Amino acid sequence: MAEKGNISIHTENIFPIIKKFLYSDHEIFLRELVSNAVDASQKLKRLSAIGEYKGELGDLKVKVAVDKEARTITVSDNGIGMTAEEIKKYINQIAFSGATEFVEKYKDKPDANQIIGHFGLGFYSSFMVADTVEIISQSYQENTTAAHWVCDGSTEFTISDTERAERGTDVILNIAADSEEFLEEARIQTILNKYCKFLPVPVEFKGEIINNPTPIWTKSPSELTDEDYKNFYKELYPFSEDPLFWIHLNVDYPFNLTGILYFPKLKNEFEFQKNKIQLYSRQVFITDEVKDVVPEFLMLLHGVIDSPDIPLNVSRSFLQADSNVKKINTYITKKVADKLAEIFKKERENFQDKWNDINIFVKYGMLSDDKFYEKAKDFALLQNIEGKYFTIDEYKDFIQANQKDKNDNLVILYTTDEDKQHAFVESAKDRSYDVLKLDTMIDSHFIGMLEQKLEKVTLKRVDAETVDKLIEKDETKESVLSEDEKTQLKEIYEKAINNTNMHVTIEPLSPQDQPVVITLPEFMRRMKDMSKTGGGGMMFMGNMPDTYNVSVNANHPINNRILSAQDDSKEKIAKQAFDLALLSQNMLTGPALTAFVKRSVELIEKD
Ligand code: ADP
Repeated sequence: MAEKGNISIHTENIFPIIKKFLYSDHEIFLRELVSNAVDASQKLKRLSAIGEYKGELGDLKVKVAVDKEARTITVSDNGIGMTAEEIKKYINQIAFSGATEFVEKYKDKPDANQIIGHFGLGFYSSFMVADTVEIISQSYQENTTAAHWVCDGSTEFTISDTERAERGTDVILNIAADSEEFLEEARIQTILNKYCKFLPVPVEFKGEIINNPTPIWTKSPSELTDEDYKNFYKELYPFSEDPLFWIHLNVDYPFNLTGILYFPKLKNEFEFQKNKIQLYSRQVFITDEVKDVVPEFLMLLHGVIDSPDIPLNVSRSFLQADSNVKKINTYITKKVADKLAEIFKKERENFQDKWNDINIFVKYGMLSDDKFYEKAKDFALLQNIEGKYFTIDEYKDFIQANQKDKNDNLVILYTTDEDKQHAFVESAKDRSYDVLKLDTMIDSHFIGMLEQKLEKVTLKRVDAETVDKLIEKDETKESVLSEDEKTQLKEIYEKAINNTNMHVTIEPLSPQDQPVVITLPEFMRRMKDMSKTGGGGMMFMGNMPDTYNVSVNANHPINNRILSAQDDSKEKIAKQAFDLALLSQNMLTGPALTAFVKRSVELIEKD
């Protein structure tokens, strides 16, 4: 008996509209159909488990087949199947009511993911690529007849009795002329790989099972070895190096979430982008755009998150406001912090070895999330130029005795480039000061944060001042020069340098220090750095010339010599001493460098 029916919706023809709005994401039709087939298989399993289905379950499996000649894609399962009545109910009415709602609400929001699952349009996404869709289904229930449903994308469908040898459903897509790409097996393979790789029921394509139905995130950590975690990482990202460590997420209240997050070994920053965290919902791949679900600083991690509680099908702004998403965010942050704390506590050596690879996550996390800061402050490490690691508290204790200034502030010294700041590092070492290595991009922000969070602590780059002023002590240094001589010397240098952006001062440094030391004050450098990275309100600083402090060492013999030299050589020697200071900081270039070399040759010739 054949029946003809009319699909009862207001919209005359919904399919062209679906097609148009969902244009960008056509490939997800396959995800929807295979997921439906998987659901049908699992429903049968459940019915069997509770005794409602007494027959054989058999080998539950989903099959995907492409027939290029017949121009069809068929998705088959041996799940619960549907009777004709059920097809009419589930496929026609429910989905169509969703479709009507969709057309009204989402007329101008062309995001397929948002719309499809949300309005139960899963099945109808097949009309994005097919002009006729057929369903052949045999229900698991005894004494029912198989049904054959055909719909050509208009609001009309036909349904008739048919025969199907076994329980289950075939969905047959007659591929439209503009979607021929989907008749290529390679294309189907790629789509299956992307969305169906971890579906919980075996999926067969070209005679092979393409999925891993029990990925390790669905198992209990106690069943798993390190090898299992590493192998799974390789399965996710075939060409990547082994991860450093991982966190197995598993929570079922107040929301449901499982997953594994890996700390990757990063060779360069470019790799951040490559391997992304993948988001699943009941083992169906949804997206690798995990913004909002995962705190931004943890997007540098790799791995999978699976949660049926993330509203995947709604808009971004809704996602941000969603309380589950917020809780998930907090949960993940906490888990990551706890795991790091645990490794630090139990395997400090191991943690230190990996600090270079993880310090960016940790610092980024501390900067962006106060709760994370609170936990991370006890395991975040500082490394000094000798390569020794300290926690923040350990370091404060370590420098307590020697690096307090006269106002009782603890001064932490750091270098961003040991080679370029070598002379300053050496001067600091002469005073038995300790110097930290803070040389990554995030460190300039990290330094600012430490100063804000720690009381009575300042951080200074070794070349921010002459070594005496880096950590100002109460003692006053004697100068061998009289006030008059100092004034003279200052004038000589100012004339020799002839640059108003160089502020000359005469200072009683030690005779062992350099004759001239050029420094860029800490605050000035930080403001310039900020303006470079686009920091608010500091833009004007970027255009300002650097103003340096030129400290002339009153106690250095050269400066004594300048005062007693003949008038015509005074400025020459001063210039030479200044250029040497520039040279030691890589600041001497161009014509000034050429002039310096020439002058040096002359000076050597003279002796
Ligand atoms: P959703 O899956 O979101 O409910 P769909 O439009 O994809 O929306 O499917 C509508 C309904 O049709 C499903 O809920 C299910 O009851 C039924 N259905 C779809 N595909 C199958 C299948 N392969 N086997 C059995 N029932 C199915």
